[in-house]
Amino acid sequence: MKIKIEDLSKVYKNGKQALSNINLEIENGMFGLLGPNGAGKSSLMRILVTLMKPTNGSVRINGFDLQKDRGEIRKMLGYLPQDFRFFTKLKTWEFLDYAAGLSGIRNKKQRLNKVDEWLEKVGLFDVRERNANKLSGGMKRRLGIAQALIGEPKIIVVDEPTTGLDPEERIRFRNILSEISQRDVIIILSTHIIGDISSVCKNLALLNNGSVHFSGSPEELVKKAKGHVWQLNTSGFEYEMLKEKFAVTSTIPTAEGWEVQLVGDKIELENAVEIEPNLEHAYVYYMEYFNQEG
Ligand code: ADP
Repeated sequence: MKIKIEDLSKVYKNGKQALSNINLEIENGMFGLLGPNGAGKSSLMRILVTLMKPTNGSVRINGFDLQKDRGEIRKMLGYLPQDFRFFTKLKTWEFLDYAAGLSGIRNKKQRLNKVDEWLEKVGLFDVRERNANKLSGGMKRRLGIAQALIGEPKIIVVDEPTTGLDPEERIRFRNILSEISQRDVIIILSTHIIGDISSVCKNLALLNNGSVHFSGSPEELVKKAKGHVWQLNTSGFEYEMLKEKFAVTSTIPTAEGWEVQLVGDKIELENAVEIEPNLEHAYVYYMEYFNQEG
């Protein structure tokens, strides 16, 4: 699978430019869209799943054009929006059966087998007879995941996947996606939580103010921050000064004051030691100092 995004822009009716000249190539595996709230992640995803038209630019998926071959592309898609809601009186299993039917599984027996398989996978088998709209928030989210995946889509788009999930549910969800990502599929997930991306995404793009600031592997991004992350012990007075000059990524109280980690372009402080950056440091470095980097 391959997605090619060229010069993509979106300007909303109120004049707000949500995306400016996005260029990205996405291949098999898990791809993370990372950026703060308002960066343009949802706008890009809504365009990719054909819910919204771009103002400019093009998207090709395996050679199909997003505008011209909408029907072909929709058959490949599974989408879990941020605010997945359903107004339905259907039971949990009936809702999944309906979603499986929409995705094109005609044979009833085959469909019901799939439904059971997915109810197990997302841990909803025990509540299969409950009305879908009576499920708890986390359960609804899991039902959303199952309805997006039951038709075995080739392109899976998930907006803020772990919102509303507890830690155990997060792990379960990550494992489901990891398993699927071994196949010939593209999984795009957007998040502002770095932990969602670090262990699972082969590649990622950093989005800010509607532009791509970085695209590549998490390792490449981490490399960019090398030499820009420092740790030191400090007293209260110094701490305020440090916060003004640098991005403070962690603060741990000690007997004398704080042990802090700092991200900055140049850090010339006597008692600071350089440390190895992780993805969170790299994200902060890139977001705060991107202009200097060009
Ligand atoms: P993200 O998903 O990264 O939080 P969005 O794509 O939701 O970002 O939003 C990008 C920008 O576009 C934000 O400034 C947001 O306020 C604006 N925006 C989003 N949807 C609309 C809309 N329907 N009309 C006008 N502006 C919008």
